[in-house]
Amino acid sequence: MSRILFIEDEPGLVLTLTDRLVMQGYQVDTASDGEAGLEMARTGGYDLILLDVMLPRLSGFEVCKKLRSLHVDTPVLLLTARGQLEDKVHGLQLGADDYLTKPFEVMELLARIEALLRRSRIAAPPSKPQTVSFGFVEVNLKAGLVLVRGEPVTLSAREFQLLRFLIEHEGEIVSREELLRQVWGLQHMPITRTVDVHITWLRQKLEENPKYPRHLLTMRGLGYRFQREPA
Ligand code: CA
Repeated sequence: MSRILFIEDEPGLVLTLTDRLVMQGYQVDTASDGEAGLEMARTGGYDLILLDVMLPRLSGFEVCKKLRSLHVDTPVLLLTARGQLEDKVHGLQLGADDYLTKPFEVMELLARIEALLRRSRIAAPPSKPQTVSFGFVEVNLKAGLVLVRGEPVTLSAREFQLLRFLIEHEGEIVSREELLRQVWGLQHMPITRTVDVHITWLRQKLEENPKYPRHLLTMRGLGYRFQREPA
């Protein structure tokens, strides 16, 4: 049985729709404001979230954005007010999977719900790898954990961000300027030695022989490149 979380502040709509969904065989929980809804969505393990945009405390957009930033991938069907095209676009940009404009036919809603559930069953886990291995190193990108020969190694936040950026751009040459921009958030910085220093530290922690790196490579005059297969 699929579990649906319905976040909506209009009591009438909550009542009628919940009835229809239960009749249809869904298990339904409800929340009447954005904050309570977010908390339930985060911890409840739902199969689908029906999310109103205009909500007290936290708007549907904010709920959706927060959920995605917390890596909660539950499909979200957004319920927007009539004719608010910007709402739809904005909602989809924030990670909603579909939207329905109020007022809507219940049959239409049921069809959308079924389609989303079917899609998420097929798509099942999002395929971004969480763990990357190279040499004797294993990096869990989500947990921020780095193991060398099975032993945890402490990286500073910046070192980890740098490593993650290089891993996510595996095989690409990344310039020092780009690293400063992307990892340090610096737009104009005349001195790029900061990057070199951090690369040196990473090599000392992760490369078997830091003097002859095989994964964190220097591309002379261009920048750096990460590769899993040893150079
Ligand atoms: Ca509302």
